[in-house]
Amino acid sequence: MQKKETFVTKELAEKIAKEYPTPFYLYDEAGIRENADAVRKAFSWNPGFREYFAVKANANPFIMNILKDYGCGSDCSSLTELMLSDACGITGSDIMFSSNDTPFEEYELAYKLGAIINLDDITHIDFCEEACGGKLPETMSCRYNPGGKFTLSNGIMDDPGDAKYGMTREQMTESFKILIEKGVKHFGIHAFLASNTVTNDYYAQLAGQLFDLAVELKNETGAHISFINLSGGVGIAYSPDQTPNDIAAIGAGVERVYNEKLVPAGMGDVAIYTEMGRYMMAPYGVLVTRAIHEKHTHKEYIGVDACAVNLMRPAMYGSYHHITVLGKEDGPFDHMYDVTGSLCENNDKFAIDRKLPRIDMGDILVIHDAGAHGYAMGYNYNGKLKCAEILLKADGETELIRRAETPADYFSTFDCFDIYDKLK
Ligand SMILES: *Cc1c(COP(=O)(O)O)cnc(C)c1O
Repeated sequence: MQKKETFVTKELAEKIAKEYPTPFYLYDEAGIRENADAVRKAFSWNPGFREYFAVKANANPFIMNILKDYGCGSDCSSLTELMLSDACGITGSDIMFSSNDTPFEEYELAYKLGAIINLDDITHIDFCEEACGGKLPETMSCRYNPGGKFTLSNGIMDDPGDAKYGMTREQMTESFKILIEKGVKHFGIHAFLASNTVTNDYYAQLAGQLFDLAVELKNETGAHISFINLSGGVGIAYSPDQTPNDIAAIGAGVERVYNEKLVPAGMGDVAIYTEMGRYMMAPYGVLVTRAIHEKHTHKEYIGVDACAVNLMRPAMYGSYHHITVLGKEDGPFDHMYDVTGSLCENNDKFAIDRKLPRIDMGDILVIHDAGAHGYAMGYNYNGKLKCAEILLKADGETELIRRAETPADYFSTFDCFDIYDKLK
């Protein structure tokens, strides 16, 4: 088993644990800032470039505010994400509302905030118009789904033909025509075709398809296309044997296709937007948990105080998350363990048959790359409570950015019933 660097030391984790018991999330502010700056630089060739951070990946206002320093807006897909963005002062066209199966009141709020609305389907046009009080905004975006397979095959969502999102090629033309008739003046095109792509080629390949589409749609409908939204899908190296993406190379790849396809078509004013979540945050957050039980039965088990409620990806997708045992970073990796949480579900395992150093009770384990789709995906199964989130600031101090849930939080939705008095 190879080693993977982490920003957490045993000393730091033990120090934080004195005040905030494990498990907890820890985020690396310096890492978040350095990466966000690199993203901005990689696309600085495009004057209109904008990263709309996918709030669903990490819906913490402190994180959103750090990213805001680098010009990031928010990509929202629900009522509460819109509310959170608004509360962070990220509003108007700083919000991209990329949702699907959208409830009426979510369109209403998106419109009220002045967000850019990205329509998932042609049948949403009238529905959305009604939610906007009868008149659509002047700028609208449409989500495209080419169907078939997307050939950069390496993960969770590389099968557009089987994905519920977006419109067909014909529906894109039809939607643009209808929207023009309804007074829409400026258009965006959006597509998300593959998830967690660990290759520098994904964005350039997607951009190539969308740029061709943009030229066609402009020619067919006369629409003014003001932006192309490459959405999310840029991956990270969860496993130490993977080569991380190089965002500068990714930006340069998109620039090459832009100059090849859009500039000659007289569309050199099109802005490039992205909606990265994972790439912005995953490596800069870890779940810190303590070994509380060992079990020697048909396998060797280490039970930790975190569970799938804190980090669901291994249970949900069988995802690999690297684990470092603090103080034993250099091995030897001579024990084979299943590392489990306490849910009454056998998929509640952070690692299966993983070679790790010998783990003693009380050891602190760092579960890597949990900064995106980690805390945010959590739930309350088995009545388990969500843990705290802590920011390791650029100056080395730590700050609580979300307290742990208490039983009172869990029971608060009974507050209108008699039993609540006994639960408080
Ligand atoms: C999930 C999602 C994203 C972010 O995806 P990542 O893989 O985290 O970059 C962006 N846009 C939309 C519409 C999404 O659903």
